[in-house]
Amino acid sequence: MTEANLALQVHALSIHYNNADQAAVQSVSFHLEQGEIACLLGPSGCGKTTLLRAIAGFLPPTEGEIKINGQMASQPRKVTSPEKRNVGVVFQDYALFPHLTVRKNIEFGLHKWDAAERRARADQLLELIGLQPLADRFPHELSGGQQQRVALARALAPKPTLILLDEPFSNLDVELKERLTFEVREILKAERMSAILVTHDQHEAFAMADRIGVMDAGQLLQWGSSYSLYHQPTSRMVADFIGQGVFLPGERTTRGIKIELGEIETNDPALPMSGQFDVLIRPDDIIHDDASAQQARVVRKSFRGADFLYTLALDSGAHVLALVPSHHNHAIGEPIGIKLALDHVITFGR
Ligand code: ADP
Repeated sequence: MTEANLALQVHALSIHYNNADQAAVQSVSFHLEQGEIACLLGPSGCGKTTLLRAIAGFLPPTEGEIKINGQMASQPRKVTSPEKRNVGVVFQDYALFPHLTVRKNIEFGLHKWDAAERRARADQLLELIGLQPLADRFPHELSGGQQQRVALARALAPKPTLILLDEPFSNLDVELKERLTFEVREILKAERMSAILVTHDQHEAFAMADRIGVMDAGQLLQWGSSYSLYHQPTSRMVADFIGQGVFLPGERTTRGIKIELGEIETNDPALPMSGQFDVLIRPDDIIHDDASAQQARVVRKSFRGADFLYTLALDSGAHVLALVPSHHNHAIGEPIGIKLALDHVITFGR
């Protein structure tokens, strides 16, 4: 990988608002390859929007730097203005021009193009977003989802290096949101566009992103694929925030690691040799098996169509989660047989 393949490089970036004691973004580093879609994920107030605004050029860094397409774009006292960064932004409220038609909205950033090219580019995007028949409508004559697609097409039109999307689906209902996340991903991929999306919704992040950055209190805790964040979280916060799971106290044995559910044989050198630690147990690490001698009591159940997510109490009172096919319909309070099926042990010190 050379710098030329990178749409974005963020290096040791810190951002401090004038009136705040603490940095809103603290020494964050990551990069994005061309054509990659990334998602900044984390609880409200963790610094996602601040980071996105800095990448867009609206906020100067206190420390660190941002390069876009290999070019220096932000340093503490030297920030290239937003319109010169070659970055498109899709705002939460879409910010379409109400007095311009769909076509004119899309053509807005192309005033320097010649008329035939501008028209051809708008036609291409109208087709991509599936709104050719509505090209002459005004924004107020469109649904929320259609407005969202027009906002995306307008940002894509000038072929920027990078598109930034700030909570783009937060104003939409759940069903539409789910469909649009896939549509927006397909549109971005069709244009081979690099993009960064901000969200606090992990399902949205999983559906959209090639890479996810989990943030907490201004720090970027982990940057990776959704698979690696789920299966190899490097901190308790990421383990907790991504997917579901519980932590059970573990202890070292000569053959591996022992938890209340049994002994796991492993010689993974990364695991602690001694001391107090917890083991991460995901719902898919526990299998329901009527024949198993190990029993747990159903405390809570949530029907999810194909399966139930059971919350189960072990003898010690500790709770674990288990995903069980929904034809195994057990009542609350009932004991059921379970088996541990954990093949990759993740531990966190206490
Ligand atoms: P998120 O997008 O993850 O919800 P933000 O980036 O908006 O988080 O905020 C990060 C931190 O910076 C929060 O503590 C927030 O209160 C603070 N903050 C955001 N905007 C401003 C501002 N304009 N002035 C001062 N502090 C701000």
